[in-house]
Amino acid sequence: MITDSHDTIAAPATATGGAIALIRVSGPHALVCCDRIFKGSVRLADAHPNTIHYGHIVDGEREIDDVLMSVFRAPHSYTGEDSAEISVHGSRYIVAEVLRLLSRCGVRMAAPGEFTVRAFLAGKMDLSQAEAVADMIAADSKAAHALASTQMKGGYSSSLHELRQQLLDAAALLELELDFSEEDVEFADRTQLAAMLDNISAEVQRLASSFHTGNALKEGVAVAIVGKPNVGKSTLLNRLTGEERAITSEIAGTTRDTIEESCDIDGVRFRFIDTAGIRETDDKLERMGIERTRKAIADARIIVSINESGTEAESVDIKEGQTVIEVINKSDLADVNSDMTENDRLRISALTGDGIEELRMRLRAVIDTDGAYTGETIVTNSRHFDALQRASASLTAARSALDSGLSGELLSEELREVLNILGEITGEVTSDDILQNIFSRFCIGK
Ligand code: GDP
Repeated sequence: MITDSHDTIAAPATATGGAIALIRVSGPHALVCCDRIFKGSVRLADAHPNTIHYGHIVDGEREIDDVLMSVFRAPHSYTGEDSAEISVHGSRYIVAEVLRLLSRCGVRMAAPGEFTVRAFLAGKMDLSQAEAVADMIAADSKAAHALASTQMKGGYSSSLHELRQQLLDAAALLELELDFSEEDVEFADRTQLAAMLDNISAEVQRLASSFHTGNALKEGVAVAIVGKPNVGKSTLLNRLTGEERAITSEIAGTTRDTIEESCDIDGVRFRFIDTAGIRETDDKLERMGIERTRKAIADARIIVSINESGTEAESVDIKEGQTVIEVINKSDLADVNSDMTENDRLRISALTGDGIEELRMRLRAVIDTDGAYTGETIVTNSRHFDALQRASASLTAARSALDSGLSGELLSEELREVLNILGEITGEVTSDDILQNIFSRFCIGK
């Protein structure tokens, strides 16, 4: 249950294994509790906000560690509460000891994401910003970082806020008409209303369609490497990622399952999936691999279709929004003048590395990152995408209701529906279930 609780909580905020570990404490008694286990030159409860203090964590006479204690005061902290961050030496034992001492003082161990829940409930950030905190921590490329950063700073929230404000104004005018229903007046100009709905619809659709790129940038762009057995798919995956993940051999059917490795190309993470070659086979295991190949191809943003010189390309069913890059491998073996018909396909040698840089450039060119770096609002979250699609459908319904001369009352209900859906994204309209679902995926200490 996500509750608006006001007890004092603590949790480690860093993974084990580092030189320093950080323990977060937040709540009304955070500083008093820390004072009971901290020996320094000042009382933390009297310390100025945003200050750092050197001292020792002690258990009675026993010194546990020398530490730095950062002090934050409500409301100017991450959670909006009094908080402390204790930097200790990165020993699992020390962290456990500090947490044990804190719990002896009545501090409760925090649930996953509970610090961010408190920040959200205190109005320090909206729900989409809270989700961006998780994205920021998971960001593993320049592009994913840029998107998380824009969302965290509230870029997305302000776009949605503007749209909601327009809808609210229109709904309020329509509702005002109800008060004057006897007089048959129209406060909300229907032509202006139609234009406004069209604008909002266009923006909602633009946001929804940005998910295609946004999600790929956040999760890594899925690239399926497909081709007949033995054309060099595994060798290409190894060459592109600089790993030796896939086993290569001249025995067809060596790759029996999909193998995935990723690498960064100019700030974008690409996830390369080496697929099992599609062929007729009685081998049950290989058939399972082939099934997965079909799924990997269906889910991929880019398909690298690989062939050997002089052979026909493998036929692949392409879905809308997918890009195919055709390459001819083993250029080191081919007679350069022999294949005049293959000019539009990129010649590479996965073995020697010839043409690989050109392939990397072609892959990168498929993904447009301009918007991500200029702070454009780009949707990366499937929960938001789902809400935007529902909002778009409701807007279409509202627009046709308007065209068919529906009463102001029903029209305002349609607008309220859109408002509610958009409010789900920022958390203005939310439920315990939604919050639980989002924050349970956060890690401890976040
Ligand atoms: P897969 O079945 O499509 O994954 O093919 P592999 O990557 O296992 O490669 C099959 C064989 O072709 C192996 O012996 C590789 O060393 C060889 N091979 C792959 N790429 C090249 C290349 O560019 N040039 C040459 N000469 N051999 C290659």
